[in-house]
Amino acid sequence: MLRGRDVRSLEAMSTIDAQADTLPLGGPSLPQERRLVTELPGPRSAEILARKAAAVPAGVGHTVPVAAVAAGGGVVVDADGNSLIDLGSGIAVTTVGSAHPKVAAAIAAQAAQFTHTCFMISPYESYVEVAEALNRLTPGDFAKKSALFNSGAEAVENAIKIARKYTGRQAVVAFDHGYHGRTNLTMALTAKAMPYKSGFGPFAPEVYRAQASYPFRDGLSGAEAAARTILQLEKQIGADNLAAVIIEPIQGEGGFIVPADGYLPAIVDWCRANGVVFIADEVQTGFGRTGAMFASEIFGIVPDLITTAKGIAGGMPLAAVTGRAEIMDASHSGGLGGTYGGNPVACAAALAAIDAYETEGLLERAAEIGALLKDRLSAIQAGDPRLGDIRGHGAMIAAEFVDPATGAPDAALTGAVAKAAIAQGVIVLTCGTFGNVIRFLPPLTIGDDLLNEGLDVIAAALAAHPSSAGA
Ligand SMILES: *Cc1c(COP(=O)(O)O)cnc(C)c1O
Repeated sequence: MLRGRDVRSLEAMSTIDAQADTLPLGGPSLPQERRLVTELPGPRSAEILARKAAAVPAGVGHTVPVAAVAAGGGVVVDADGNSLIDLGSGIAVTTVGSAHPKVAAAIAAQAAQFTHTCFMISPYESYVEVAEALNRLTPGDFAKKSALFNSGAEAVENAIKIARKYTGRQAVVAFDHGYHGRTNLTMALTAKAMPYKSGFGPFAPEVYRAQASYPFRDGLSGAEAAARTILQLEKQIGADNLAAVIIEPIQGEGGFIVPADGYLPAIVDWCRANGVVFIADEVQTGFGRTGAMFASEIFGIVPDLITTAKGIAGGMPLAAVTGRAEIMDASHSGGLGGTYGGNPVACAAALAAIDAYETEGLLERAAEIGALLKDRLSAIQAGDPRLGDIRGHGAMIAAEFVDPATGAPDAALTGAVAKAAIAQGVIVLTCGTFGNVIRFLPPLTIGDDLLNEGLDVIAAALAAHPSSAGA
């Protein structure tokens, strides 16, 4: 129940002008426009970024040189009053928008009641409700349970813990181009040295790497790629030693790689036949991002365990492992948890965000955004063969840039286009093992006009950059 003061703060939130002489409030009523009033960074952002350089270690980098003060709909506003088009959602987190009114209200109401008890000391209903929602929404028509954590990496760590305890086996397989986080075990699972692993070893043992499916680069059918993977699992590790296989249904940091048809079902079937726990890491693909609630649905697979985070709670830090009840129940009491896991403010935000996913047509909107992005990018590709591949589902679309003569990855062009777009007030992110992919992850609350304007800026940046082939 909302209290009087919460209702007042809600009214204030919907009235930007109420605080016009201070900082703007975020949310959907923020003017939806690209507006540059200074070069980036402007003076106020530059001052904050200079303090960042002095106070925060260099290892914590940033790609967009502005200090944010508000965000909502499809824009991020900086400390100098610049308004940037947001095609990144803070890495697929603010899928329901930044400061979604229901999420903001739920956070305010819960913070006024209590911020923490520790679920392992005195449990509360909202954690249970989030678990029930995850058990209901994830694929699989069987009894499920969920445990909550704080970050994607922590969810992945716990999924591996649970799979090892359940199977009594130790080995874990992750894949080329995989990304699972920055903690020690998840660094071991991650496939990319720079920037994620270099100098940070030694890494956790009993982690093995196999090749997955990357149709644009390996040219294999799903069945061929699966046969290659399975040979590696059987010969290098041995099924009897293998606790779990962990894979992103669409590999995120690795380049938004969509596996060939039939690849994932074949791997799931092999795991099931060999008593291996199949873990889908849906930290980036989950919660409507791909136009389905979970990307596993697109490929017709039912994972044993699913890890989620990013889009789960409208920007609040929350993560989960959801899966078959008998696997989830393998751990002794006290074996799973953490001081903050399933924080009540984050749970309140998650329940509001899940309500938005289910009732506001956001999955349909993700599909529309995907169609618009693919149409526009295909039109650009028709006149520019450096755009080698366009792929993805829903609001998770990638453009892979290559040297048209050789197909070699063109990271220099990719970086230059992204940098130019950012300087023009369009937040775009790059990814890919070879650094040659621009990824589109807009909030589902962005309008078509902003999407089109963002693509106009990217197309102009591309046209302004001569081919770097042979340079
Ligand atoms: C971002 C990401 C993670 C790590 O999540 P954090 O919250 O940054 O720890 C794990 N897996 C995938 C697929 C991700 O995209």
